[in-house]
Amino acid sequence: MQLRWLGTAGFELRSEDGTTLLIDPFLSRPPLARPQSPLKLSDIPHADAVLVTHGHFDHAFDVPTLAGRLKAPVYASASVCRSLTHHGTLQSSLVPLSPGQWVRVGDLRIQALVAQHVHFDGALVLRTLPRLLPYLDSMHRLLTRWPAGQVLGFHIASANLRLVHFGSAGGVADTLEHLRPDVALIPAQGRSDIDQVATQMAERLQPRLVVPHHWDDFYPPLSQLIPLTPLAEALSRCLPATRLHTPRIGQWWQIF
Ligand SMILES: [Zn+2]
Repeated sequence: MQLRWLGTAGFELRSEDGTTLLIDPFLSRPPLARPQSPLKLSDIPHADAVLVTHGHFDHAFDVPTLAGRLKAPVYASASVCRSLTHHGTLQSSLVPLSPGQWVRVGDLRIQALVAQHVHFDGALVLRTLPRLLPYLDSMHRLLTRWPAGQVLGFHIASANLRLVHFGSAGGVADTLEHLRPDVALIPAQGRSDIDQVATQMAERLQPRLVVPHHWDDFYPPLSQLIPLTPLAEALSRCLPATRLHTPRIGQWWQIF
């Protein structure tokens, strides 16, 4: 299985048999986003399916355009599917999923997982608010047009590898503890103590490999660049056998 990070919570996944999935693809980042991305929407030539964890703009904004051009089915919760139709996604390409449900795409089996959005903490909101003040109107419009809807995680299984992706750091403890995936794609954004929250997710999942994402400053001034050293240190303390891989945007790599 090969992966490339698209920035924010976005990934492109290619299986041994060439099945290609897009997860939360958001490539329309502004020029001030850091790190800069070499990718444009036109760099995505094909997908067998698009998976969307929730409806926020930084996960779903490019989905109507990509799904339309690539003629790919979109898997998301029913409420996110409804929101995507308002943004121009064809009803016929939307496949609503409930938590626990499995679907097959090519040689991959995909299960929707119950998940939650991370709860923003007061300290972070207070720190972010002053720099958002000049943009409050446009930010408010963006956030209300792209509601989260029901949040899902995804469990993706090939013949020899199991991977989980969470778009926001609110996995439900019971679900996490039963999964035991090889690879966990864990988001790091939205809380002052996000390194602890992400480490706790990893401790429950016990994966062989953790891939942190969403730590980039994908939409300044709303987002911020999250330093990954505290997460790396906490992981090596709590899960010494687990490897951490921090990918570069746009670079394919082979998992294991
Ligand atoms: Zn997000």
